Amino acid sequence: MALAHNLGFPRIGRDRELKKALEAYWKGALDEAGLRAVGRELRAAHWQAQKDAGIELLPVGDFAWYDQVLTHSLTFGVIPERFRPHDGKPGLDTLFGMARGVTSSCCGGAHAQEMTKWFDTNYHYLVPEFTADQQFSLSWEQLFEEVEEARALGHKVKPVLIGPLTYLWLGKAKGDEFDKLDLLERLLPIYGEILDRLAEQGVEWVQIDEPILALDLPQDWKNAYERAYHLLQHAKLRKLVATYFGGLEDNLGLAVGLPVDGLHIDLVRAPEQLPLVLDRLPSYKVLSLGVVNGRNVWRCDLDKALAQLREAEQRFGANLWVAPSCSLLHSPVDLGREDQLDAELKSWLAFAVQKCAEVATLAAALNAPGSVDAALAESRAVQESRASSPRIHKPAVQARLAAIKPEDSQRKSPFAQRIEKQRALLNLPAFPTTTIGSFPQTSAIRLARQSFKQGKLSAAEYTEAMHAEIRHAVEVQEKLGLDVLVHGEAERNDMVEYFAEQLDGYAFTRFGWVQSYGSRCVKPAVIYGDLSRPKAMTVEWIAYAQSLTDKVMKGMLTGPVTMLMWSFPREDVSREVQARQLALAIRDEVVDLEAAGIRIVQIDEAAFREGLPLRRAQWQHYLDWATEAFRLTASGVLDETQIHTHMCYSEFNDVIESIAAMDADVITIETSRSDMELLDAFERFEYPNEIGPGVYDIHSPRVPDSAEMVKLLEKAARRIPAERLWVNPDCGLKTRAWPETEAALVNMVAAARQLRAQL
Ligand code: GLN
Ligand code: ZN
Repeated sequence: MALAHNLGFPRIGRDRELKKALEAYWKGALDEAGLRAVGRELRAAHWQAQKDAGIELLPVGDFAWYDQVLTHSLTFGVIPERFRPHDGKPGLDTLFGMARGVTSSCCGGAHAQEMTKWFDTNYHYLVPEFTADQQFSLSWEQLFEEVEEARALGHKVKPVLIGPLTYLWLGKAKGDEFDKLDLLERLLPIYGEILDRLAEQGVEWVQIDEPILALDLPQDWKNAYERAYHLLQHAKLRKLVATYFGGLEDNLGLAVGLPVDGLHIDLVRAPEQLPLVLDRLPSYKVLSLGVVNGRNVWRCDLDKALAQLREAEQRFGANLWVAPSCSLLHSPVDLGREDQLDAELKSWLAFAVQKCAEVATLAAALNAPGSVDAALAESRAVQESRASSPRIHKPAVQARLAAIKPEDSQRKSPFAQRIEKQRALLNLPAFPTTTIGSFPQTSAIRLARQSFKQGKLSAAEYTEAMHAEIRHAVEVQEKLGLDVLVHGEAERNDMVEYFAEQLDGYAFTRFGWVQSYGSRCVKPAVIYGDLSRPKAMTVEWIAYAQSLTDKVMKGMLTGPVTMLMWSFPREDVSREVQARQLALAIRDEVVDLEAAGIRIVQIDEAAFREGLPLRRAQWQHYLDWATEAFRLTASGVLDETQIHTHMCYSEFNDVIESIAAMDADVITIETSRSDMELLDAFERFEYPNEIGPGVYDIHSPRVPDSAEMVKLLEKAARRIPAERLWVNPDCGLKTRAWPETEAALVNMVAAARQLRAQL
């Protein structure tokens, strides 16, 4: 009998109950017992929801107070010195301290552990910190307690652990240099202890996640696998190694040969690996097929999934398991909660609860053919309705896409000629000063937006409130003496949502929240159909701002790659096609801004690097289409119109060629925290266009003095010719307050003036 199981369920709650409880606890409005009660209720509700949907083997250990990697660090006793409790016994506050940092009035406190993206998802985990003399000891009972809790509720469970190699891979070596892999021998006994404890609790199967098997691994890491799993072999329970987010590729032989009892593979991301795995995985092992996409919101094509499962069933029979592709942590919780989605669109979607039901339906289709014919027929009808829906397929958009010519992605003249014309027209000083776009999003702004949405403010009143914000921003910038002004983005709730709301082909959910980190959730917009721009989206605001000043006003747009990366994309067409549709829509906006007299347009691509595939071999293809999408967006204007882009991260080394190929006249980047070192990549590559390296960190309220910024700019000028340097902060200022913003910008303008005087 094929078994329906799940790799993990979202922990945040269908109404974000965990978020609310955590924030109340941190504020002191909820005590620990209250917080723990919320956790218990959520776990119970989530197990029940999965069971009701037909999942037979339920995950335990997918719940986390903040992050599952952090839970593992506590479990293994990987607690950095600065957080170690005096009595040696870590508690919930140790955990939250590691996640959020500790402020202390007497002793300086402790900075939080670093956070970074979980593979290519938008989920962030807390990076374990290892030292050369790292010791491991079983220090946290959560997993065992939750197993007990589930069993007391009568559930059949499968604990989920992050595998030893993936855990070490995710961490960072601190202090004296050493090889993380050297810690493996010390870590493995803890895994042994955990597996023994679970076996004692009567656990039959444990899921060990090793998603790094979908990455390009160095040879010594590959070699470590067999040894590690041999050492875990004695445990008296069965082990399913789970891989996801990509194909096994060169790690396939290694994965199928591990001395474990089963293997999970992701057939959504890498369907091509099925025949290879069928050929090479011994059939006495369990094969778990991830056929329902855990990363997106669309209903599964059950016929297609069933065909894959039937192929596997011929060889694996009762050893075949059915699952989502990865943990459902990355999908919203319950579509049933959506009360305002239009019925047709809703019929195309599935969130975590519905995905569990799809897994169960597929297992039932194998186990009792004919028993779920109605569900299969319904799935077929949904696929057919989507395939032919005029809401999705827009001939005009497709025709425009088909008519794109190579010259559409090419500015009229090369940079060297453009910049001459732009300089003549813009007449800016050396080291021109500007900001990245947003100014403080004050509570007054948010209140105005909320009142407008609730109908308490008329459209005219709302426009006037935003105009007042723009007037204020322009006044401040003129007073500060900035050279290129911005309107401040007061009217934008979010840099993607603002545009998505105005494009055709985007839909919005009310409760489609996905955990981003800790208590923070995001609610990505859903791209459901061909994308187009019915009318101008920003021109009125920007033109209004320009009308207030003689200085140059910079138009502000979000680029196609970032729009795509921070949305739930379609699955029926490639990312590339969706990026091109977005590019055409935003291109029209760039052209309209130019026609309205705007001479500089910034196209933000904050998520450009995020789109990189996990495997190197696939990088170039991505970089090619992502670069092309940007160029298509930017190339509809005259040479005289200056195109800026902005990227807020700090690794350019391996993508510098593509950054240059984007051919933006000016790029602003985050550099202040790296002490300008990341400009090395631009210097080595002899990056030809203009650059604005951020001169101060906007993530902190700290106001650096102008001497500090002068130093940074001097460093920058040693790497990039002075005539190509701009002066700006690292990123937008929306999270800051006005006083610190003005104070920092005063110093920034002074720094630029000092550099000009030194020329
Ligand atoms: N223009 C945006 C802002 O200033 C850019 C934000 C970002 O890069 N994340 O807020
Ligand atoms: Zn930024």
